[in-house]
Amino acid sequence: MFHCLAANAANISMARVIPLADARTALPLAAAAPRVAPSGLLADTRGRHLRDLRISVTDRCNFRCVYCMPKDVFGHDYPFLPHAELLTFEEITRLARIFKAHGIEKIRLTGGEPLLRKNLERLIAMLADIGGLDLTLTTNGAALTAKARELKAAGLNRITVSLDALDDGVFRAMNDVDFPVVRVLEGIDAAAEAGLAPVKINMVVKRGVNEQEILPMARRFKGSGHVLRFIEYMDVGHTNAWRMDDVVPSAEVIRSIGRELPLEAIGANYAGEVAERWRYVDGGGEIGVISSVTQAFCRDCTRARLATDGKLYTCLFAMTGYDLRALLRAGSSDAEISNYVAAIWLQRADRYSEIRSENTVALPKIEMSYIGG
Ligand code: SAM
Repeated sequence: MFHCLAANAANISMARVIPLADARTALPLAAAAPRVAPSGLLADTRGRHLRDLRISVTDRCNFRCVYCMPKDVFGHDYPFLPHAELLTFEEITRLARIFKAHGIEKIRLTGGEPLLRKNLERLIAMLADIGGLDLTLTTNGAALTAKARELKAAGLNRITVSLDALDDGVFRAMNDVDFPVVRVLEGIDAAAEAGLAPVKINMVVKRGVNEQEILPMARRFKGSGHVLRFIEYMDVGHTNAWRMDDVVPSAEVIRSIGRELPLEAIGANYAGEVAERWRYVDGGGEIGVISSVTQAFCRDCTRARLATDGKLYTCLFAMTGYDLRALLRAGSSDAEISNYVAAIWLQRADRYSEIRSENTVALPKIEMSYIGG
């Protein structure tokens, strides 16, 4: 029932665009799912616990970042999910309670662009009502100036804003909808003022596209209280024509910043933290690097992902999801859904980034906008 990436890799030799519908086939409910009490700490086949849940609340985005949702694929006629296929806020909240009982401590809302989902603050309030969850959200920042206060008031704890360049021309070309840098910077300020601090700022670095922006970004956010994080460009989805040559390794990022602004490594905040932390020697704050390509962190991966239509994925690079929405809408009890989730996690063996190769790059993976970045 569970796919072996390595086995499939040998059969696939050419990159191609896979329509999402192909990859959304849900597996039938495991008839013989073991009964696992929802009382915390599920461990998968590699001993990894289930700790974080990322929820994609929409597959739509108002940006067309060239490395994520390129215009030629995600054009006007792209078949985004109809509203009825999205999990409702009530369905998301019910699943969040079930996951919390299995040990989830943190929920990140993402997408697509999560701030495009109407009344998102209502969902945040519903999730906050569960209690004991660290609630975070990743956004492109376009709507943040208008929404930061209400997100905080609804119960959001922290926020991550994506920003790939300070240079307006570079940024507009990367988001491909001519969106200006200044509006994202205003959004970051609004988030900090609203108390969604420390604000994390994610910069995906792509060779030959925005690597010249690494230092300007570091200079700009040093001493700001925000935490800038550099992300290695990954082969998620099937539409970005990823090549290893496009990846700027984190070690190179650290070297080039450290030459001008001396850095020293610091320890992780918690086990399984994806960003490796560095701080400015002069006390100007910290930065992070997320090295999913050059230093795979599958060994510590505690994340599950709930896609926009309620399919559960146990890896960002997964090919198959498990249809929780079908269970919700078929009248399954909490205990049945809880058991199913447990069965999925207990059999989890994913370690895509550790086995990434020329062959795995061409595997039919799910688009990030749908599974949630
Ligand atoms: N729309 C929101 C945003 O822009 O942050 C949330 C969704 S977006 C898919 C989440 C994050 O994934 C962004 O920081 C984006 O830059 C990052 N991302 C998208 N494609 C990526 C890729 N191929 N490699 C690395 N990061 C990627």
